[in-house]
Amino acid sequence: MHNDDLKKKLTAEQYRVTQEKGTEAPFTGKFVNHHEKGMYTCVVCGKSLSPSDTKFDSGTGWPSFDKAIPGAVTFKEDTRLGSTRTEITCTNCGAHLGHVFDDLPAPRPDSFFVYAILCDDNLIYIGQTDNLQGRWVKHNNGTASDHTKKHKPLRLIHYEEYKTRTEAIKREHDLKTGFGRKWIKREFEAGRLPVRNTQTGTRQAGGLSGTGKRYCVNSVCLGFEER
Ligand SMILES: [Zn+2]
Repeated sequence: MHNDDLKKKLTAEQYRVTQEKGTEAPFTGKFVNHHEKGMYTCVVCGKSLSPSDTKFDSGTGWPSFDKAIPGAVTFKEDTRLGSTRTEITCTNCGAHLGHVFDDLPAPRPDSFFVYAILCDDNLIYIGQTDNLQGRWVKHNNGTASDHTKKHKPLRLIHYEEYKTRTEAIKREHDLKTGFGRKWIKREFEAGRLPVRNTQTGTRQAGGLSGTGKRYCVNSVCLGFEER
């Protein structure tokens, strides 16, 4: 389809993400907490991509999948941010969909998260919680920390998952030191901090198989057909 036709067919955000390889803010997309039964499709060309039972909650704020209709999605190397990531595209029309995150956690009870949020004063806010999504919403509606009441949270840039609150609190303290903050800033500026989980041993998604890849797709790239 010609670019002008695509611009008419898609919303500005759909165009930015699918055609210009953009990323929607985490926890903002309409399919993050979507649990209906059916088929997720490409918003650009309508082709079926993944059935709803292959979607899982990864805690990242983007719809996450580990399986697709055979051949429906294409995995491509993406070196734009200086590090090598794997991009997901729609095989039929080439629309950008998202990226592979091999260390996505599957949902588990009793998980605790340490997280870092980039704010509009260019400072990084660090916190810990047992409900990452709930905390993100609170930061955004001004009911969480004083810092994020004064400075708008732009995006979640990092999280780590722990099995106990004690471990999460200790890690939060470590990240809030000068060394911790320097590490986050350096990794972020080097493009190595899209949202990801760094703790080996706690980061494997449980009970998932299929493509052997776990990946996040922007909600804005998806359509949905109830079945
Ligand atoms: Zn498509």
